[in-house]
Amino acid sequence: MNAAHRETDADVVVVGGGTAGLAAAIAAKRSAPGLRVMVLEKAAGVGRHLLSGAIVEPAAFQRLLTPEEFAALPLGIQVKKSEFRFLTAGGGAWRLPFVLPSMRDEGLWLADLPTLAGALAGIAEKLDVDVLTGTAVEELIYDGELVAGVRCGGDSLTARHVVLAEGPGGPLTAELARRCPGLRAAHPCHALAIREMWQVPAPSGRAGDVAHTFGAPLKGRRYGGGFMYRPAEDRVVVGFAVALDLGMPEGAFELFEAWKQHPFVAQALEGGTAIGYGARLIPEAGWPGIPPALQAGNVTLAGDAAGLVDPLALKGVHLGVEAGRLAGERIAAASQKTPDESWAITPEPPLQRDNLPFAPALRRIRNHRAGFAWGLLPGMMGAGLSFVSRGLLPPGQFAPPSDLPRAPEGQSAADRLSLPPHLPRLETALAQARLTAARPGEPPHVGVIDPDKCVGCPHPCWHFCPAGTYAPAESARSPAEAPPLVHAENCLHCHTCLLRCPRANIRWQPPPAGIGPDFR
Ligand SMILES: Cc1cc2nc3c(=O)[nH]c(=O)nc-3n(C[C@H](O)[C@H](O)[C@H](O)COP(=O)(O)OP(=O)(O)OC[C@H]3O[C@@H](n4cnc5c(N)ncnc54)[C@H](O)[C@@H]3O)c2cc1C
Ligand code: SF4
Ligand code: SF4
Repeated sequence: MNAAHRETDADVVVVGGGTAGLAAAIAAKRSAPGLRVMVLEKAAGVGRHLLSGAIVEPAAFQRLLTPEEFAALPLGIQVKKSEFRFLTAGGGAWRLPFVLPSMRDEGLWLADLPTLAGALAGIAEKLDVDVLTGTAVEELIYDGELVAGVRCGGDSLTARHVVLAEGPGGPLTAELARRCPGLRAAHPCHALAIREMWQVPAPSGRAGDVAHTFGAPLKGRRYGGGFMYRPAEDRVVVGFAVALDLGMPEGAFELFEAWKQHPFVAQALEGGTAIGYGARLIPEAGWPGIPPALQAGNVTLAGDAAGLVDPLALKGVHLGVEAGRLAGERIAAASQKTPDESWAITPEPPLQRDNLPFAPALRRIRNHRAGFAWGLLPGMMGAGLSFVSRGLLPPGQFAPPSDLPRAPEGQSAADRLSLPPHLPRLETALAQARLTAARPGEPPHVGVIDPDKCVGCPHPCWHFCPAGTYAPAESARSPAEAPPLVHAENCLHCHTCLLRCPRANIRWQPPPAGIGPDFR
């Protein structure tokens, strides 16, 4: 690299203003106040594209922040009661008498993630970090084995180190993993989660209650489940997650709707109104979904982009904050040691999966997701076995299922036409996602790459998208042979289409100027 004394626009550019990216920015700037640190966030305001429960473990925040900052952090209310229920198709809801310790939530915090991220952004700004919202990064600029910066709105922004914290399933992370084997996870896999916020008649007297469900409406080997959080007396957060590995004869949205009809959920929502809708991926592989290194050269992978979610506890916020802090501190330390002839900040040694403080805990449950690929009962038995043997059994590493189904979808394309993707109920839900439309003349941020490739495809896009973005082409005589009609304006930025189009035939770029949903 012949780039001595290269002038750059920033020392550290963080792509994504979620909790992981902000933690990295705060730690880097606090450890080396002279660094020019920038956070680029595509949403019009920090937190508007964040969707989560979220039950938060606070210790990672305590290590990141000063006691005063931590005391002022809006962590919400503490969880009073948490339970796991097995739902039957006949309306039963059996409470599990025993759950593993890491699945218990009592005493943790029920936080509003957009508010929490907003507070972190405020702390970062007080440290003189530039937080730029409405700024979508379209691509990383590569310079040999290093990353020279990012491109936003057609402009280049040069940086000495780039932290990629774009959340799960993102296109920038996928491209980086293609170029850099060290940052590629062996077996990533994801679930799609759909979530609604409901306003219910107050007072319920149950604020702080949390319930997780499994069983109905899922059948066979399909892996997933629901959750219900009560962050306030008159609010219920309901969500349903389903793994991407098997085909989707019913779409995730239809499953979510069916789950809400179950008496256990319906009772909690009675008399209420949905006031928010959203969808997002969850990286649920755990250990095999985390790349061997989180830093390579002058790039860091942070948070869900690095697969940092505990698949048993169903939590990722604290892991992203913890690893983000460690990465930020290493970047700061490396910046002090960077020799004059080099412009890039390359932490040495880089942060690695094996050195993460939570590595032993995640390694112990490394086969968690793989076990559930055999069905609910084998999965539960496997989880119990790994708990009692402290991770020794079953020995070795089994691969969790891949996001793309190996066999063709169960239904024929003709059958699929009888399932209308644009349910009237979905239209109402999308209104609750408060979507900002693109400006007139703005090219759509999502589309089909090669229409010819859609011929002969069973068109799973009509069903896997939780926003009904892909619909049967109305004008075509045989919609099953034509490319889908793309309603880019519906898009919730969940990235599912990038993982689930079986022919990798979808182009998705983050739209500019904060266009998209508002999940606050
Ligand atoms: C339904 C659901 C429930 C969950 N419940 C819990 C829970 O109870 N507890 C828990 O700990 N975890 C939970 N999780 C997981 C948790 O939400 C994540 O692990 C955590 O939010 C990851 O943080 P992050 O900063 O890595 O990513 P994100 O929070 O996704 O942040 C990424 C940010 O990057 C921005 N961005 C993306 N691409 C670009 C781009 N190209 N340019 C600029 N900006 C970009 C996005 O707009 C976003 O603001 C849940 C997840 C889901 C989906
Ligand atoms: S966009 Fe992808 S999933 Fe949809 S029809 Fe075309 S190839 Fe199939
Ligand atoms: S178009 Fe793609 S990114 Fe947008 S909501 Fe649908 S699946 Fe998610």
